[in-house]
Amino acid sequence: MTHASLHAATPPGIHADVEEILLTQDQIQARVAQLGAQLTADYAGRDPVLISVLKGSIVFLADLVRGVQLPLSIDIMEVSSYGAATESSGQVRILKDLSHPIEGRDVVVVEDIIDTGLTLNYLLRYLREKGPASLRICCLLDKPARRLTEIEIDYVGFTIPDRFVVGYGLDYGERYRNLPYVGVLRPSVYGLDPPEA
Ligand code: 5GP
Repeated sequence: MTHASLHAATPPGIHADVEEILLTQDQIQARVAQLGAQLTADYAGRDPVLISVLKGSIVFLADLVRGVQLPLSIDIMEVSSYGAATESSGQVRILKDLSHPIEGRDVVVVEDIIDTGLTLNYLLRYLREKGPASLRICCLLDKPARRLTEIEIDYVGFTIPDRFVVGYGLDYGERYRNLPYVGVLRPSVYGLDPPEA
């Protein structure tokens, strides 16, 4: 692929669409490394399984696991949350289930962002029924302002205000996941229909 065709394949203006950067690449990398070190200490002598939910969490998961100095495994689930709209419905469907049993395992759910908490609440109930030895939550971003259900989060990267954010795995209409930072889009990107959060 030539340089010109690579350039043509890049979504136009992904950085120009960002109004404000809430968390820089450096801030994120430093915090994710800390979380990895914390997991390394807390799970010493054990062999945890880190379960991530597609697609928003994959960037976080990929960076996080490289900071965990332990034997571990990864499993991936996919659940439907917002779909095309940006409002959480509380309706959760499992699109891709676990690949391996988690009975007796030390499970860490790795999430990109916890907003209303409805998605995670459903997931936790589902995972608990499978009999893990322990079940903890590690999320990069916590948006407590809109929480609709009580959830105890064991590891939090950053607590953020009630704004709709993109980048570092998080999308708007499937775009912007590849931004290396977390930011807020210009209102003009949303046209007449801005996201709720
Ligand atoms: P909850 O069920 O906690 O309301 O929503 C969880 C999911 O909604 C997240 O995993 C994420 O996919 C999406 N979500 C919640 N808040 C935001 C946000 O500010 N930006 C983006 N891009 N997605 C969000």
